[in-house]
Amino acid sequence: ITFADLGLAQALLRAVADTGYTIPTPIQAQAIPQVLQGGDLLAAAQTGTGKTAGFTLPLLQLLMDKPSRQPGKPRALVLTPTRELAAQVEESVREYGKHLPLKSMVMFGGVGINPQISALKKPVDILVATPGRLLDHVSQRTLDLSAVEILVLDEADRMLDMGFIHDIRKVLALLPAKRQNLLFSATFSDEIKTLADKLLNQPKLVEV
Ligand code: AMP
Repeated sequence: ITFADLGLAQALLRAVADTGYTIPTPIQAQAIPQVLQGGDLLAAAQTGTGKTAGFTLPLLQLLMDKPSRQPGKPRALVLTPTRELAAQVEESVREYGKHLPLKSMVMFGGVGINPQISALKKPVDILVATPGRLLDHVSQRTLDLSAVEILVLDEADRMLDMGFIHDIRKVLALLPAKRQNLLFSATFSDEIKTLADKLLNQPKLVEV
C-alpha cells in the first residue's frame, strides 16, 4: 500500500515524498481514508506510530479547496497537552501543507500573548493550541471558534492526566455542533471513554 492508494491529493503526495516517507504506517493506512470520508474517528495510537501525519494529511486535504478569508476564525482546531507537542504538530502541518494555500498557527501559554493577537488578525485555517491559552484568547475575543469544522484532540489521555478536562469542556461548548471530531489517545481509561461518548458521533475505531 502507498500514500497514493489512501486517496491523498497530489499536492500532499508531493509533500510526503519530499519528507522521504514511502510507506504509510498502520495508523496512517487506517486513519487517512476514514478521516477523508468525513466521519468521526477514535484512534488508539502511541507517539512514534506516525499518528501526526495520520491526522494532518487528511485534515489539510479536507480544507484545501476553500482557504479561510476571515481573520481569527480557524476552520480546524487541534488541541494538544503541551507546548512542545503543539509546536511539533504545527511544524508537521506546515511541512505537509507546503504546496497548499492554507495557513496554520500555533498558540500556547508561557509566552507573550501579543504576537499571537497580531497573528490572529490574519486568516488562519488550522490552529494548533494548548487549552489554557486558547481560552484566554476566546475571553479576550481575539479568537472566534464558531467556524471550526474539524476538531482534533491529540494525546487526549495526557490532556486529562494534566487536568485539562474542564478546559476541554469549555472549548467544546464554543464549537459549532455540526463538525468532524478526531480523538487520539494512547490509553483508554474510563475517563477517556466518557469523553469519547460525549464527543464522538458514531466513530470509526482505529487501533494499532
Ligand atoms: P508521530 O507518531 O506522529 O510522532 O511520528 C513519529 C515519527 O515517525 C516522526 O519522526 C515522523 O517523521 C515519522 N514518520 C511518520 N510517518 C512516517 C512514514 N510513513 N514513514 C516513515 N517515517 C514516518
